[in-house]
Amino acid sequence: MALLIIDTETCIGCAACVAACPFGALRMENDKAVVDDKCTACGACLEVCPVEALSLPERGKGAEDISAYQGVWVWVEQFRGEACSISWEMMGQGRRIADSLGTTLTACVLGHNVEGIAQQAIYYGADRVFLVDDPSLGVYRTAPYAKQLVHLVRQYKPEIFLLGASARGRDLAGAVATEVHTGLTADCTGLDIDPETKLLRQTRPAFGGNIMATIICPNYRPQMATVRHRVFEMPEPDSSRQGQIVRVPPVMTEDQIAAKVVDFIVEEGEVNLADAKIIVSGGRGVRGPEGFKPLRELAEVLGGAVGSSRAAVDAGWIPYAHQVGQTGRTVRPDLYIACGISGAIQHLAGMGTSKVIVAINKDPEAPIFKVANYGIVGDLFQVVPALTEELRKRLRK
Ligand SMILES: Cc1cc2nc3c(=O)[nH]c(=O)nc-3n(C[C@H](O)[C@H](O)[C@H](O)COP(=O)(O)OP(=O)(O)OC[C@H]3O[C@@H](n4cnc5c(N)ncnc54)[C@H](O)[C@@H]3O)c2cc1C
Repeated sequence: MALLIIDTETCIGCAACVAACPFGALRMENDKAVVDDKCTACGACLEVCPVEALSLPERGKGAEDISAYQGVWVWVEQFRGEACSISWEMMGQGRRIADSLGTTLTACVLGHNVEGIAQQAIYYGADRVFLVDDPSLGVYRTAPYAKQLVHLVRQYKPEIFLLGASARGRDLAGAVATEVHTGLTADCTGLDIDPETKLLRQTRPAFGGNIMATIICPNYRPQMATVRHRVFEMPEPDSSRQGQIVRVPPVMTEDQIAAKVVDFIVEEGEVNLADAKIIVSGGRGVRGPEGFKPLRELAEVLGGAVGSSRAAVDAGWIPYAHQVGQTGRTVRPDLYIACGISGAIQHLAGMGTSKVIVAINKDPEAPIFKVANYGIVGDLFQVVPALTEELRKRLRK
């Protein structure tokens, strides 16, 4: 539904608004401005209208009392009864934000036989855990998970709700935010509380990673954000922490859930880059699928995983699961070896916080050298096998 209000009596049909709209949401019909669903309520047209025929609904009008919303929540994602590490990274941030607001941290644990995860959530900083333990929640499906969280949000009204930006987290966050009619900032790389307004400042790359945008949600609650894996440090669990576990019954029964899981098929070439301590990554400089062979050998000697730039994935040389960067995985290994990768900003967005970065590139001006701790200017097809041979000797492999 378009948000812009057009006073057709006042509109003089000058079309200034049509030219000013960055989203192409306005057109002229019978010499009057007409708006469609592409309108984002950005307000650009208001500024150019010479007769003030355009307006937007008053912000926050119609929204319920947002001061009733209190506390920080984190959804604790699990897979086959094991908590995903991204959830504990989120708990670390949730605790930090709750402390800076002087409020409580609540974890939402959904699944089957997941009581142990609820206890772990307390060790990772939760004051309270909502535990929904039921066979219908054993495998992630959007409807029962989203309905359960919507039910909890409506009943207990959290001020802030954080989820990991995993495949499941992205799916769930969108479904919940739509249902409770609030804003959602996806794929954040920074979260902070504004010292004056106490609003959540949600920072994420925008315009292809060329700028960092800080987004706020002043009029609706909860303020929802998903955060990428490995952006934040993993907190240390504290097994002496105490908290409350609140058991909640499921809101959907199995026969009400349309989607049925028939089977799980593991994708060929699946790789767990996010948890790898060492990554040897290749870019367009490897020249083809065969060019990854020396990188795989080096990774094997080091006990690491193979990553890649998007250029290599787009060329079909290696599956997407290996892609590091803004539209791939975010990684934070102890050692990242970039071979034949130029160091575009979108690639750096995914690996820039690696502890030690080694760059191998034949171009001494390649931007990757600006972020590298060690740079080797040379042909990767000579440098990588030489490194592998030497490391094999030293590591006796
Ligand atoms: C919206 C958006 C999202 C994006 N997301 C990502 C992303 O998630 N991840 C990502 O990686 N990119 C992403 N990109 C693409 C990114 O902008 C770059 O195009 C890409 O990272 C370049 O890959 P590359 O470094 O492998 O290739 P190139 O930039 O072509 O660099 C190849 C490098 O290899 C070196 N080289 C060539 N031969 C050799 C050799 N024999 N030995 C040593 N060095 C050699 C060259 O000197 C050069 O520096 C995105 C772009 C956009 C617009």
